[in-house]
Amino acid sequence: MVDCLFCRMVAGEVPATVVHDDEQTFAFRDINPQAPTHVLVIPKAHHPDIGALAAADDGLLGALHRAAAAVADREGLAADGWRLVFNTGAGAGQSVFHVHGHVLGGRKFGWPPG
Ligand code: AMP
Ligand code: ZN
Repeated sequence: MVDCLFCRMVAGEVPATVVHDDEQTFAFRDINPQAPTHVLVIPKAHHPDIGALAAADDGLLGALHRAAAAVADREGLAADGWRLVFNTGAGAGQSVFHVHGHVLGGRKFGWPPG
């Protein structure tokens, strides 16, 4: 999609520190990390948020979650725990409207989230 930051990262037009790249999904380190490990996992196809993706493509929804789990595993987060966050809508803090899961780990997390 034209003018989508994350589509441009998938296309290689905007630099990214890539940690995962397969046929359907792509993952890179967040530029403003909120935890020692903070990776964004996205589908290569443009869907604005997790609700839109869930409505459009079950297979891609599954692939996105599998990619997130694989990243968490590879980053060594499985033993101590990790969080997968989909901010959905501006009111929940979403600022980039290409669906992305935040894989967060490497520190203790509070509940409820802020
Ligand atoms: P959200 O606020 O949930 O939409 O998350 C968007 C995330 O994208 C934020 O955590 C930003 O730090 C991150 N971000 C924005 N621009 C870039 C970039 N060029 N490279 C990596 N992460 C980015
Ligand atoms: Zn996009």
